[in-house]
Amino acid sequence: MTKVLLITPPLTQLNTAYPATTALMAYLRQRGFEAIQRDLGIDLVNAVYTPDFLKRIFTQVKPTAKNRRMLEQQNAYVNTVQSVMRFLQGKDATLAVRIAGGDFLPTGKRFDNVADLEWAFGAAGVNDHARHLATLYVEDLADFIRENVDAHFDLVRYAERLSLSAPNFDKIEKALQTPPSLVDELMLQILDSYISAEKPDLIGFTVPFPGCLFSSLRCGQHIKKRYPHIKIVIGGGYVNTELRNLSDPRIFSYLDFITLDDGEFPLEKIILYLQKNEDINNLVRTFYINDNKVLVYSNNDEQNLHFSELPAPDFSGLPVEKYISLVALTNPMHKLWTDGAWNKLTVAHGCYWAKCAFCDTSLDYICRYEAPRVAHVVDKIESVMRQTGSSGFHFTDEALPPKLLKEIAEEIIRRNLIVNYWGNIRFEKNFTQELCSLLAKSGCIAVSGGLEVATDRLLSVINKGVNLRQAVCTAQAFADAGIMVHTYLMYGFPTQTLHEAVDALEVVRQMFDEGLVQSAFWHKLAVTAHSPIGKNPQAFGVKILNDKINPFANNDLPYTDGNKVNWEMVGAALSKATYNFMHGLCLDKPVQSWFSEKVPRPSVAPNLVISSMKD
Ligand code: SF4
Repeated sequence: MTKVLLITPPLTQLNTAYPATTALMAYLRQRGFEAIQRDLGIDLVNAVYTPDFLKRIFTQVKPTAKNRRMLEQQNAYVNTVQSVMRFLQGKDATLAVRIAGGDFLPTGKRFDNVADLEWAFGAAGVNDHARHLATLYVEDLADFIRENVDAHFDLVRYAERLSLSAPNFDKIEKALQTPPSLVDELMLQILDSYISAEKPDLIGFTVPFPGCLFSSLRCGQHIKKRYPHIKIVIGGGYVNTELRNLSDPRIFSYLDFITLDDGEFPLEKIILYLQKNEDINNLVRTFYINDNKVLVYSNNDEQNLHFSELPAPDFSGLPVEKYISLVALTNPMHKLWTDGAWNKLTVAHGCYWAKCAFCDTSLDYICRYEAPRVAHVVDKIESVMRQTGSSGFHFTDEALPPKLLKEIAEEIIRRNLIVNYWGNIRFEKNFTQELCSLLAKSGCIAVSGGLEVATDRLLSVINKGVNLRQAVCTAQAFADAGIMVHTYLMYGFPTQTLHEAVDALEVVRQMFDEGLVQSAFWHKLAVTAHSPIGKNPQAFGVKILNDKINPFANNDLPYTDGNKVNWEMVGAALSKATYNFMHGLCLDKPVQSWFSEKVPRPSVAPNLVISSMKD
């Protein structure tokens, strides 16, 4: 029987398991296949942050003006690293007082802007304060490794630059031909230990982000060389969005199969093919190389599994005790992404709205909405809690449907479960005060939703299905229920004017000021090939500058809307202002003063948010 090893490669996240291998393994085991999983990312971080590895890199690095400060403190780093990792893993809370005291940790450049943190954490917030300082310590070491040992190393991505908008395979291939770095060598040693212990026949890497591609291919290169009998497959979010039009076969020197969209069924078909139970023509949504070394896409795209038939994720084999909780920002909502062992669970498949102009609405993970039975969802919640011992859930749905969420909340309460959860929503009218109270009662602690461009004209162009007043009322309903709110914001949308960007910042300022949102993040619009704008650019006043199909990655489309706004300047102003708002600062400062160029005053009424709340 084909034995499958599923791997989360470096690096996705450090505080909890990424939810791909857990879902795949549960399905394969349910179908009677032999499958195991490992998180190579967290195992690598745990191997890097050790006295031995730090000693090794400190002795190899030549002193420069830039690294002298860290090198001078190398003994202190070597002596403290184990204690800091244990503290961040939640194994030694007693260290908090010493770390927060300020004299325990060596300090790199990330500590230069640490002022008096008492205001942020309060006298009682010693643990969070200490975790913030320990996070800076870990980040300083990551900077040191990147600048002196391995240019690809980062805490949440690995060699991301190589894979971001890679129209061809040249740069990635060239990097793969260089000798492995010290960190690469460590990663490959860990991989060797998995292979010698488990003896797999097929290894699957999930590649959700561009920052996981290089490490997967580096592993693939090693496996092909040392264990040529083992087959390799990759799939995941990056692959699904970027590699759908792959025509360059060179990547197949490092792997054997690439699957698209949900991986369960394609993986099952690959196993059946390897076991000689099925013909290669039965592969589903899979790229491979045939005997003539020609790239083939298997098609059979319409074959899929019903989401409601999929089992609860299986966490066995993951080192739950090794994940580390980081506190990069002092904002309590923002830190949810990096702090805490949140179990990741998808409640329904796809997005129940699936109409926003910038979103990948033509892809399966958005457009195929399928809601399971409520009892099945809550059964999964109970199963995961039993496995991990954690009652915290991050529902990873693109947008949680209010009706389904209401029924889940009622079932959680009916079963007397203690659950704490958060996830994405749309700011839509069905999230009433009554529903938000029910959600809070069932354990909802936070939501995140797109306010996007935060002006009514553009929300309508985007086809968001909400207007500002409604979004404000929904945010208020959550706030009144004691549920924290994060909002995703966007600038540079086609036809957006500078004045509209200033207006958007004023709306955001007012929402922070009224306590309706606790955190926010701005990003510049990217036109993707799978979005309504990418599919029909003329309808949005956009001209695609280069529509030729690349041999490797295809997703971001270079475009112009003829707009001459300096979006770099605007983006810097929006981010800086919002960073301050998130810390409760500068909320009375006129928003136009954040911009480095002269901009118009906002035309939004100074009490827009308050008057909307009274509607
Ligand atoms: S942006 Fe969110 S709400 Fe809009 S279609 Fe995409 S997933 Fe759905």
